[in-house]
Amino acid sequence: MNNDNNSVILKVDNLHACIQGKEILKGINLTVKRGEIHAIMGLNGSGKSTFAKILAGHPDYQVTQGNIQYEKQDLLELSSEERAQAGIFLAFQYPIEIPGVANSQFLRLAYNTVQTQRGKEELDPLEFDDFVREKMKLLEMKPDFLDRSVNEGFSGGEKKRNEILQMALLEPRLGILDETDSGLDIDALKIVARGVNHLSNQDNAMILITHYQRLLDHIVPDYVHVMEAGRIIKTGGKELALELETHGYDWVHNDLQHTAGASS
Ligand code: ADP
Ligand code: MG
Repeated sequence: MNNDNNSVILKVDNLHACIQGKEILKGINLTVKRGEIHAIMGLNGSGKSTFAKILAGHPDYQVTQGNIQYEKQDLLELSSEERAQAGIFLAFQYPIEIPGVANSQFLRLAYNTVQTQRGKEELDPLEFDDFVREKMKLLEMKPDFLDRSVNEGFSGGEKKRNEILQMALLEPRLGILDETDSGLDIDALKIVARGVNHLSNQDNAMILITHYQRLLDHIVPDYVHVMEAGRIIKTGGKELALELETHGYDWVHNDLQHTAGASS
């Protein structure tokens, strides 16, 4: 059996995309297999969030070239809802607030929608309450989180933890975390990392978008990609993140010139 082909969750080929006529992504190639954790690093403005939003099906961006295969489906043919139901989860860099909707209602609705699609049973409010409290223990979240409006008045760290809680409930096949580490103190960072490590298994994959190396002290990636001006300009193992931390992003250019003879 050719197991190798089955292990590919995501295959991005020559992805070009623009927003309001401005080209942001200029030829991204990326293959992600089951069981892998990929980190995407890069300076602000390099296109990391754009890439994440396109994977999740954000309507503001137009893909102008290339394709994305997700578990043997053409991802670009699926709506954002269909992508979520197919197991793609994006934790936003700036989670939205939904005043007037209790977090518990919101989480249960999201959970039951996915359960139904997967042919599994929905949980009623009481059953869900038990289930979600177990998950919250993992993230050391206080139970009053459930009664508050979604993200309203949450601190930056609380919003990020709430995103991880959503991910823990939905059990995605491809989890994409966009700068889930920014704005977190070290304790919150460790809790988020513990959540991600707990959720990561041989059947799913994670893409961690991060500006800093420090998250990667707690979540060890299989691959690190450096993005610049809408392209992945370098890929390496976990040690690449440490080199970036030590030498800065400029070092990648010098390193590329030495190894590739300044081809571009
Ligand atoms: P990163 O997440 O790496 O910081 P982004 O994907 O957020 O980068 O942004 C990449 C580029 O796209 C930036 O130059 C940014 O100004 C531009 N951009 C992002 N969103 C919009 C938008 N809604 N309209 C115009 N330009 C945008
Ligand atoms: Mg960003």
